[in-house]
Amino acid sequence: MLISARLARGLVWGLALVPLAVFLAGLGAHDFSSLSSILNMLGRLTGVLGLALLLLAAALSARVPGFDQPFGGLTKLWHTHHLLGAGSLLLLLAHPLLLALASAAHGYHLPVQMLFPPLSDTATWSGWLALLLMMIFLAPSFAFFGRPNYERWKRIHALAGPAAILALAHTFLFSRTMPANLDKVVWGLFALLGVGAVAWRLVFSRRAGRLKYTISAVEAVANNVVELTLQPERSEKRLKYQAGNFVYMTPLDKSLGAGCGEEHPYTLSSSPSEPDLRIAIKDLGDASRAIQSIRPGTKVRIEGPYGRFFPVKANPKQPELWVAGGIGITPFLARLRHLKALGQAADVHLVYAVQDEARALYAAELQSLIDTIEGARLTFHYFYREGPISAAYLVETCPDLDQREVYICGPLPLNKLVQDHLRRIGRPLSSIHTEEFELL
Ligand SMILES: Cc1cc2nc3c(=O)[nH]c(=O)nc-3n(C[C@H](O)[C@H](O)[C@H](O)COP(=O)(O)OP(=O)(O)OC[C@H]3O[C@@H](n4cnc5c(N)ncnc54)[C@H](O)[C@@H]3O)c2cc1C
Repeated sequence: MLISARLARGLVWGLALVPLAVFLAGLGAHDFSSLSSILNMLGRLTGVLGLALLLLAAALSARVPGFDQPFGGLTKLWHTHHLLGAGSLLLLLAHPLLLALASAAHGYHLPVQMLFPPLSDTATWSGWLALLLMMIFLAPSFAFFGRPNYERWKRIHALAGPAAILALAHTFLFSRTMPANLDKVVWGLFALLGVGAVAWRLVFSRRAGRLKYTISAVEAVANNVVELTLQPERSEKRLKYQAGNFVYMTPLDKSLGAGCGEEHPYTLSSSPSEPDLRIAIKDLGDASRAIQSIRPGTKVRIEGPYGRFFPVKANPKQPELWVAGGIGITPFLARLRHLKALGQAADVHLVYAVQDEARALYAAELQSLIDTIEGARLTFHYFYREGPISAAYLVETCPDLDQREVYICGPLPLNKLVQDHLRRIGRPLSSIHTEEFELL
């Protein structure tokens, strides 16, 4: 049985507190005997907690298929990863500051030794370098610096590995955070978690974790959207997944204008009962634009499945409202195709928000699926004609809204708008499920 997302997050934050608990247990009266020793103790405390958060953030970046399930999917797991990373940066920035204040309170006028240690002082230098690397690789993640270019952001983020190693070296060399042997055991275990995750991501998943597929068909769905059909190179090595899951796809065609060898996340639009995979890709940037002219026969690598948009075991009796925007129709399309393939009824009401009739992707197929599936309904919402979706629109279109679980997938502003309306009309947070096509 799956644990809840709240419990999964709680376990991660609880684990982060283990080194802190060991550190606190090792404190004595002398750590509180003067202002200087209190500041020094707080300086070490922020170092301990900051390092624990950094290593756990690394551990969560493993992207092992299935590991994201208890968190509610990879996009939600990334959220915890971001919070751990941001918390770790703030704590590790406070760490040298508090230690400097401690030495100033002790009577030293300037903590010069700490700011400009001799070159031979590897313990201090490793700490400074780790902090510098953290500032470089985490800065682009803060919205303050504007929207980062994804590929550049990813390259800079690779500095997280050396930063974590330097931070660990700093802690081991000082060996002042916990009673001697516990220090090594606790940080050794945390280091194993972090290094194991990075090794999985960079070595194992690239070799054994990626399935080999070939593009067998490319169909133009609109002038800026294509649907690819992918066939496994070995039929026994095909992906098992659920409707609503997404994969990382890496095309291997060197003649592509952009994106050859780059992995990008895409929701599967096929029914899990189909022998092949289908993926609908909208031109949203360099790599997805190049894919618009990809040719059948191109080899691709598929990694996944990830995500937990729909419940693992959907209850056919539970009424649902689906709100899709633009290319965000893909998880709903997969679910409808699957319901049709299984011949199942479902009490679902799909509201598909598009700018105008011409931008409604798969309009004819959606209508035909809805007509075939007993209990399913479809309403198109046209932005140019009707304006933004309002709370009144939702209640009018779907009068029994208060009894429905709601699933939203579309551009971030639409996601947010619909969530705000739902909360304002009293829908509990637990009944609203979202998939974001953004990971940053
Ligand atoms: C869970 C999920 C499911 C998605 N499903 C679909 C789908 O079914 N169909 C579809 O057309 N698009 C989907 N996307 C969006 C798709 O991944 C991006 O449009 C694509 O990666 C853009 O890459 P680019 O190089 O063309 O554009 P860029 O100009 O490089 O990027 C445009 C934006 O896409 C995002 N992005 C780019 N590369 C990545 C990456 N490797 N990982 C995460 N985000 C990235 C960034 O937010 C970036 O700002 C999905 C995204 C996510 C996170």
